[in-house]
Amino acid sequence: MLKIAVIGDPIEHSMSPVVHGAALDALGVSYEYEKVRVTKGGLPEYIRHALDTGTDGFNLTMPHKVDILPYLADIDSEAEAFSSVNTVRIRDGKLYGFNTDAIGYELSLKQCGYEFAGRRVVILGAGGVVRTIALKAAMCGARRVCILNRTREKAEWICGEVRGKTGADMISEGFSADEIARQCASADILINATPLGMNGCKSRFETFDFMNSLPSGALVSDLIYNPYKTEFLAEGERRGHNIQNGLPMLIFQALAADEQYLDRKINMSDVYPAVLAAAQKRLNV
Ligand code: NAP
Repeated sequence: MLKIAVIGDPIEHSMSPVVHGAALDALGVSYEYEKVRVTKGGLPEYIRHALDTGTDGFNLTMPHKVDILPYLADIDSEAEAFSSVNTVRIRDGKLYGFNTDAIGYELSLKQCGYEFAGRRVVILGAGGVVRTIALKAAMCGARRVCILNRTREKAEWICGEVRGKTGADMISEGFSADEIARQCASADILINATPLGMNGCKSRFETFDFMNSLPSGALVSDLIYNPYKTEFLAEGERRGHNIQNGLPMLIFQALAADEQYLDRKINMSDVYPAVLAAAQKRLNV
């Protein structure tokens, strides 16, 4: 019996139990799945619990992705590159850290017929998830990656780190409508990685005019999946662009985590439809 969990704070609305449950059901794996509210500073107590109860692994969300680092026996290179872990595998009483967000996004791109290689990527936001996606884009051979953020220094910092690790062409900008429009004019893939437009987020984009400059054929991608089609995506679609929400990323990052828990590769295209259906049911779409 596989024993896994998701921990974080807040955790009530986590989709992880639905997504992992549907995947493991589809794979015919028997499992127990715990959803545990672990507040900041609560990791030592939770880790003791996980070890005492024979837990095989757990996913982490806010605020633990960085705090987990001192407890790890080893960490995979992508998680280490930006010191952010979303998956822990426990083996023989030791904790091993992984980050599956970037591979989740890369697989979601492939699923809708796009890839980073040779593309110009424009990312709005410079939070935790952008660090991993920007690095993945650079490692996959993106022609150029531009990060625009309200706090420009954060975008500059990520660009500096990724450039240093990969030599990629990285650009940082602020978040004004003009700056966004200028960068959109040469974007093959436009990604919203801010919470603007998410259910529960009070702020919205003030304008979507910046999308008028996107080249035809550009993908408009939002990491948000609730609402299922954000205004950002609806505006992209209205201008004739292919769009993708954040649900495929959520599913693929979970399947990549399950590969760690199960110590084997999963045929993701076999299980994806069942997981998507379960997630859509939970989201009422
Ligand atoms: P984060 O670390 O909290 O970063 C949030 C980013 O959004 C920061 O760059 C922040 O700018 C910017 N931002 C916040 N409010 C803003 C506003 N009112 N105007 C302009 N910019 C604003 O979050 P994260 O973990 O990177 O996640 C980012 C998004 O991706 C969230 O919507 C999250 O739900 C989504 N996500 C989806 C998946 C998935 O599987 N689909 C996985 C992870 C994350 P400042 O730096 O200026 O504060």
